[in-house]
Amino acid sequence: MRSISSDEAPARDEILRSLKAFPIDLLKIYPRSFCSKNGLAYGLIRTSEGKKFVVMGERSHVLKDAFLGNCHHQSSSLKLCDLSAENTECLMALFPYTKPVSLRKYPMTIGTGDRLGMATPGHIRAIKKFQAHPVLAQQSVRENGQTGRNFIEVIQDAAWAVFQENYQEGYGADGDHLKSLQDIKGALDAGISMATLDLSEKINPEALQEPKELIDQKFKEEIDEGDSKVIFHLFLGKEFVFKGPDGQFSIQFDEESVKRNTLLFCKGLDFTEEVYEWIRFRRGNQGSIDFEISIDETPFPTSPENHFFFALELSHRGVHIQSLAPRFIGEFQKGIDYRGDRDDFRRQFYQHVLIAQDYGNYKISIHSGSDKFSIFSDMGRLSKGFLHLKTAGTSWLEALRLIALGNPSLFREMYSFALSRFNEASKLYHVKADLNRIPNLEELSDEELPVLLNQEDSRQLLHITYGYLLNEKDKAGKHLFKDKLTHTLMQYEEDYWSMLETHIEKHLSSLGVKNR
Ligand code: ZN
Repeated sequence: MRSISSDEAPARDEILRSLKAFPIDLLKIYPRSFCSKNGLAYGLIRTSEGKKFVVMGERSHVLKDAFLGNCHHQSSSLKLCDLSAENTECLMALFPYTKPVSLRKYPMTIGTGDRLGMATPGHIRAIKKFQAHPVLAQQSVRENGQTGRNFIEVIQDAAWAVFQENYQEGYGADGDHLKSLQDIKGALDAGISMATLDLSEKINPEALQEPKELIDQKFKEEIDEGDSKVIFHLFLGKEFVFKGPDGQFSIQFDEESVKRNTLLFCKGLDFTEEVYEWIRFRRGNQGSIDFEISIDETPFPTSPENHFFFALELSHRGVHIQSLAPRFIGEFQKGIDYRGDRDDFRRQFYQHVLIAQDYGNYKISIHSGSDKFSIFSDMGRLSKGFLHLKTAGTSWLEALRLIALGNPSLFREMYSFALSRFNEASKLYHVKADLNRIPNLEELSDEELPVLLNQEDSRQLLHITYGYLLNEKDKAGKHLFKDKLTHTLMQYEEDYWSMLETHIEKHLSSLGVKNR
């Protein structure tokens, strides 16, 4: 376990002295969390019953305090509180920095999904060293389905971690890959500050493939005559020129490409507009929600021409977004480096950046953004640090690395189980792992197990099977791995956080983000 650094030590000793006066089973304190407000001291500790929030001070003050918990009285009083939903609300009211906020005023943002709700302190420790702001609560509907959590719990876990680390710079909460108004409503009710609308079910990729005659016919049938006049007026007979430090390029449309893009995006654009207006109406003056559009899970790469068509249509409809996630050329697979031609990527990424800058001034958002070390410096340079990067599964993989180091037998069981579920899992996620390339588990010594977290195929295997690993139960209905996994992570939590700190730090420095 990490020892507490000397600058924290005096505070820690004083807190320990006060706490030891009470008959509680104190295992650990989180020194950065301790603070005083309105004459009371607040902080986080761990007892044999898990993490607890404490309120300490004069008896009359403690009794009047709003948090729910059990009181102990000596010469002073102590209240021991669960990290419950009610207490999270009190926490956010008393310490407003624990509540998610819009990050639209910050150029560099990074989303760090925390699937287990245990990684966030490590994320904060890395990000606070950089000129970047974090979206600490970031889960998709699909991830919540796999982990058995919901947006409320995801935000609660982030809020307590923010308090634990005394991180007061502001953080976001992203409802990721929301596909319906129902999804959006659930996420807004839970308190998100960012909504990512996934248009993959509203996009019509056939429009890029079908023969010209069919496109002509469909365009005539499906697009209102007045609308088609406006669209042709917007796009035809013009050259859209983009200039930047790496040179200029232009985009032109002919009638056929206008028709194809219209049929490709018309339902997605209508839906985006509907959701945008609905959120504005629902939020009233409750503060803005950062709005991202994701088209990264479509079956075709988003060409600069597609992107520009979409962007100009959005601005014509008066829809303002904070970020857009295209599907880039090449392969952006989960948890591993970029696969593809880096020159092609660089050229197209530059074009995406200039389009976003000129037609709405929004960020390019990089999904499946973890571990793309070979292209991070290009992304950072070409976007001039105006960028949103999303990572999630990579922190899960670091959790498994810790299990490999701290509890090798558990790791072996989990790994074998993951192998048995690979075929099913690979239907849910876009990966191209080849299991024949993975080293044989039986031939690896315990010390060699972390190798499996470095090899790309085994990384992908472990990346996409998290839902199966977390949900699997034995005949008695007990989780097969989840409880042992969280227990081991908790046992070595400081090590887990410092591994994450190093890992996320490597991402930010590779992107060229400046230190604070
Ligand atoms: Zn995505």
